[in-house]
Amino acid sequence: MNDCIFCLISKGEVNSKKLFSNDFCFVIEDIAPKAPLHLLIIPHKHILRLSDFEDVAIILGSMFDAAVNYAKNIGIADDGYRLVINQGENSGQEVPHLHLHLLSGRKLLGMG
Ligand code: 5GP
Ligand code: ZN
Repeated sequence: MNDCIFCLISKGEVNSKKLFSNDFCFVIEDIAPKAPLHLLIIPHKHILRLSDFEDVAIILGSMFDAAVNYAKNIGIADDGYRLVINQGENSGQEVPHLHLHLLSGRKLLGMG
């Protein structure tokens, strides 16, 4: 998908500093942070709906693995963090390319 912002960032066609990248996904700072630390873990592959894929456990496993390792490496594992995926219209998802939010840096309010 050519005009997808996360695909463009993945390909380096839109500039956004990649804090981490492997064959499967990359990590960037959210442009409009909702917490002192707000990162996005994004697969390079354009994935619109999780339900479109049979290997959903592999997809999510790779993303959570990257998030957990990254959080450990930057030293926030003990303080804690929140991982969130918005999926589809009712969730308020804005960017139609699968991504995992990592929020931290303050006490987060309950889910509302
Ligand atoms: P969603 O609501 O789809 O789960 O979250 C999309 C997130 O992507 C939002 O938190 C939004 O601030 C972030 N975002 C949208 N466009 C860009 C962009 O061009 N660069 C970065 N770094 N984040 C973006
Ligand atoms: Zn995309």
